Amino acid sequence: SERTLVLVKPDGVSRGLVGEVISRIERKGLTLAALELRNVERDVAEQHYAEHDGKPFFESLLEFITSGPVVALVVEGPRAIAAFRQLAGGTDPVEKATPGTIRGDFGLEVQFNLVHGSDSVESAEREIKLWFPSL
Ligand code: ATP
Repeated sequence: SERTLVLVKPDGVSRGLVGEVISRIERKGLTLAALELRNVERDVAEQHYAEHDGKPFFESLLEFITSGPVVALVVEGPRAIAAFRQLAGGTDPVEKATPGTIRGDFGLEVQFNLVHGSDSVESAEREIKLWFPSL
């Protein structure tokens, strides 16, 4: 069994899609190991998105992710990392995510793409430590 760090980003929370996202995770057969609604400090946002430091969208990404509360989850199950990324759909909600995925069903713009999911075992470990140091 594997663990992944999932975020419902501020757009997902403000649009009332937390239940929808959690429902899809549960219906897939994955389980929730941790769940918290929280405001994101600048420092945590910078560490979370460190790999994008220097990219043109980095500053607006940090502004966006700190603009309102997010729901952070640790999701567990067999191949949880790939399984959640399949539920989320591709990064661009229109060009890449297909209907039936979270982003494909509810998203329009690449920055406001509703959810985050770790992309590898290494990122999952790093991100779970960052968001849930006690786990
Ligand atoms: P996440 O890491 O959030 O699961 P991802 O792995 O699908 O998303 P990344 O390429 O790691 O996508 O980008 C991280 C986040 O940065 C995206 O989810 C999106 O919110 C934002 N982003 C990516 N590319 C752009 C862009 N060209 N313009 C604005 N925002 C972007």
